[in-house]
Amino acid sequence: VSALKVEDLYFSYVSGRPVLQHIHFDIKKGEMVSIVGKNGAGKSTLSNLICGFYKPGKGRILLNGEDVASLSIKERGEKIGLVMQSPNQMISKPMIYEEVALGLTVRGVPEEEIKERVYETLKICGLYPFRNWPVSALSFGQKKRVSIASILVMNPEVLILDEPTAGQDYRHYTEIMEFLKDINENLGITVIMITHDMHLMLEYTDRAIVIADGNLIADDTPARILTNEIIADKAYLKKTSLYD
Ligand code: ADP
Ligand code: MG
Ligand code: MG
Repeated sequence: VSALKVEDLYFSYVSGRPVLQHIHFDIKKGEMVSIVGKNGAGKSTLSNLICGFYKPGKGRILLNGEDVASLSIKERGEKIGLVMQSPNQMISKPMIYEEVALGLTVRGVPEEEIKERVYETLKICGLYPFRNWPVSALSFGQKKRVSIASILVMNPEVLILDEPTAGQDYRHYTEIMEFLKDINENLGITVIMITHDMHLMLEYTDRAIVIADGNLIADDTPARILTNEIIADKAYLKKTSLYD
């Protein structure tokens, strides 16, 4: 079953200068996939298009077979969630509980249901003991998990994460990746990760989509991408200090 299908996608910010062209792929429900490419390749633009924040100039984006352009903001939130690179871009409330509850509060979900869903999500994210803490007391890795929790609480079917491990030490890196693997396997959430990290791609995903200058140049296993010199060069995957 297809979770996210992109058909001949085209987008430009300025007319005549395409930032993405002929982008097409089909991600099945329950897959965990990487999207890789150099800075400026078009990855963030692609995630914003997938989330319906921008409209494609041409082509379609289907979530569970439904065109994202035709979904309401509420429906979209239930189908797809985007976790931005920095938790500081995402976190706007001083208290952890309020932050994770925010999306549901805005939608007018009843107080009792909010409490139930927030507590359940905090448990899944290993943040329940901190439910009454201020966000400012958390480590960077824990803040990252708060930003993931604030998206997960909306019950998305597809979760997109922009550089989920950026700026984190090995312990937090492992913690976050094991957590994402766990929600992918146990909750059946489709996970799409934008990453520059070769080890993360190899260890946690079976498939990677490579974008270069707005074009899709590969959709293959991480191992095959890394052994094709031309593609590997264009994918611009960096070795991390993971095994150094
Ligand atoms: P990536 O996330 O892969 O680094 P982006 O999607 O951010 O790439 O950017 C793709 C291209 O679009 C780049 O050339 C960038 O300069 C350009 N771009 C990004 N955002 C805007 C914008 N708001 N207006 C005009 N050009 C943009
Ligand atoms: Mg960039
Ligand atoms: Mg980006």
